[in-house]
This record gives sequence, structure tokens and C-alpha cells, in this order.
Amino acid sequence: MKLAVFEFQGREYVGELSADGTTISPYDLHADQTATDGVVALIGLNIKPIGEIPLGDVTLMAPVPRPRRNVFCVGKNYHEHAHEFASSGFDSSAAQGAVPEAPIVFSKLPETVISTRAAIKLDASVTTAVDYEAELGVIIGKTGRNISLENAMEHVWGYTVINDVTSRDLQGKHSQWLIGKSQDTFCPMGPWAVTADEIDLSDTAVKCWVNGDLRQDSNTNLLIFDVPTIISAISNGITLKAGDVIATGTPAGVGIGFKPPKYLESGDVVRIEIDGIGVLENPVEAI
Ligand code: MG
Repeated sequence: MKLAVFEFQGREYVGELSADGTTISPYDLHADQTATDGVVALIGLNIKPIGEIPLGDVTLMAPVPRPRRNVFCVGKNYHEHAHEFASSGFDSSAAQGAVPEAPIVFSKLPETVISTRAAIKLDASVTTAVDYEAELGVIIGKTGRNISLENAMEHVWGYTVINDVTSRDLQGKHSQWLIGKSQDTFCPMGPWAVTADEIDLSDTAVKCWVNGDLRQDSNTNLLIFDVPTIISAISNGITLKAGDVIATGTPAGVGIGFKPPKYLESGDVVRIEIDGIGVLENPVEAI
């Protein structure tokens, strides 16, 4: 099932997409809860959507428009990307070796989240090395602590597409990655969420184009630390909550991997597609 958050006639809704993707059926939820929690508002409810609205008549929002906590993210989680980043000169974790022995976990502020079609803003007075990172996003549906590998998938509610937009110069300058990863607009998420039953993590393609140029072309079966391992690691002493979002890491082909680097520029369009979920597309705009 595909579930989208959208605005229609001045109100926010969560709705279920039709099988052919042409219409969306809204649920009867409070608009204020929808505008922040998005699809998370549905977790634990057993309700049916009502009516149908043509998809072309709505404005899509991020599936979790304002996460209640920082978005958890995993760094260097595909082998080829770990090597391209370690050799970039911006990797403050390079001393540990290119491929990490345990998941590298950092976070992005909730306010970074934007929807598909919204602009990634470039502020040249702050950063001049902004990069894209196509990633599978995991939405947690069941709270837990010290979650075992065996039980980890029970905690997954669904998936979405995330662009872990990154300022490489700030990421290197500050050693810790929070500032470089949390610039305003740096977490495009969408176009919607799909429930966990629809995705086979052993074979799901992840692709990213910039202006039609295919830059990233990989598969979730190439993750160094798979989704159960990530959930188990993050929940080790930290209570992982229903509604938390985890970006699982990006494959090779980011801008920093090219010589010279191919950073984002005003006027670019970043398109990320994950099989079974959909297309997240964002223009890049100087401010
Ligand atoms: Mg990333």
C-alpha cells in the first residue's frame, strides 16, 4: 500500500494511492496531526479512507513532514561509496578505515525535511560543495529498545525515498556531520511511503540522476549493514520510537566521487528512484 501526505484545497491529508496511481483516498484524521506526523498518524489505527481525489489535483508533502526527532542516518554503508568518500579528503572518519566495522550513525534535524518538487536551497555564503545522496528511508512503526536482529523487521512500518543532501565542506570542517547534513532543505523525502510488505530488501534498485545523467545505480542487497543490523545497532541503549525515520546510507556515484567533484548547482534537478516506492525529484535553487 502506498500512503501519501498531501494538501488539497487548503487542508492537509493522509491518503491511500489507488493501484493505478491516478487517485488518492483521504483518511479522516485531524489536519494539524497530519501536517506534522504525516503517515505516522496512521500507525496503530484501523480506519478506512473515504472518497477519491485525482492525484493531479493535490500537492504532495513529505510522508513524515516534520519528524518528532532527528532523522537517524547511516554513513558509508555501501562498499564502493565508502571507498570513494574515504579518498575524497572530506572524510573526518577516514582514520577508522574506508569500510566501518560498526554502523556510523549521525542525524539530521527534523526541520530539514522537504517534499518532492520542493527546492534544495544553496546558500553560497555558507557552503559551496553541496552533494546529493540517494537513500532508502525506513519508517519505524513499533517502539523498542535493544531490538534483536531476529525481531528487527517487526519494527519496520514502511519505506520511503530520502535524499541525504550534504555540504561536503561543512562536513569536513566540523568533523561531526550534524551541521553539514542539517542545512535547511537538506532532507528531501517522498514522494510517499509504502508499507513494509511491498519491498524486498534483498533486491531493490536505488538510482539517482542529476539533470538526466545517471550518477548512482545500486541495490539494497549491497548494503554493508542491512536494515535489521541498523535497527539493532541504533536501538542499543536508545529507545527507537514509532515514527522515527532512518536513512540507510548512499551507494557510490555521489558528486564528491568524481574528479573534479560534481557538486550541485542552481538549476540542477535531482531525481531519485527506488523500485517499488517511486520517484523523489527536487530542483536546486540558489538563495
Ligand atoms: Mg547519507
